[in-house]
Amino acid sequence: MTTFHSVVLKCPQCGTLMSDFELMSYTVHHATSWSDGKNDTGMPGMQRVKICAVCHLPFWKDDATLPYDPDWDVADELGGALDIRDLLEPFDDGWQEFKIQYYNKLIEENFADDEDKEMYLRTQLLWAVNDLIRYHTGFRKPKNLRQLTDWVKRHKKRRQESDRRLKLFETYEQLFTKNLERLIFLYIKKGDVDLIYLADMYREKGDFKKAKMILSKYEEDKNKMFRKLKRKILIKSRFVFRLD
Ligand SMILES: [Zn+2]
Repeated sequence: MTTFHSVVLKCPQCGTLMSDFELMSYTVHHATSWSDGKNDTGMPGMQRVKICAVCHLPFWKDDATLPYDPDWDVADELGGALDIRDLLEPFDDGWQEFKIQYYNKLIEENFADDEDKEMYLRTQLLWAVNDLIRYHTGFRKPKNLRQLTDWVKRHKKRRQESDRRLKLFETYEQLFTKNLERLIFLYIKKGDVDLIYLADMYREKGDFKKAKMILSKYEEDKNKMFRKLKRKILIKSRFVFRLD
């Protein structure tokens, strides 16, 4: 079951009050999970960085949320807070690169005032760069004749699009690697390390030796993610992949 309650945010820059909501609990239906930790749950309200509807400056939702008052039904009275998705039309071709630049700018301007927030921004940046290739490479093999006919028809076009995206991805290589290095540092420092996730970050950075070494220390259930990751490291593939 998915439940929300509404909250009031106060812009730290101009003081405007806006409505937003908090997710109390949710059930994931058919969520696609990716090796870099991204979940395509389609759930709104997960953005920690909000944008003021009046002054258009970004702020941290955590810091701007006013204490909850059950008597104040705000949904009808206040305008909603914006977030990154309101700045550009999704599915616009420039959208994915815009996201990369947006998060990178926030990081460079030290918008995060603690390491937890920095990790959040760097994770968003990691996902944004991976989004360039996430949905456009590694097509599944056709499973039956109908899919095969379709696959052949679209193969050439998809191949071209996939090549274009890989080239674009490569232009962000330096930023991507630098971001991962800092993310790994912060992740280890924070403690409570998931070895599979850590090994995957090294794999994406192209450090297959280290990724293999870390994975060899993993002694829990050898699940699907473990087996896929082991194979990706073996064939020296750096790209983000689907878990299902
Ligand atoms: Zn404002």
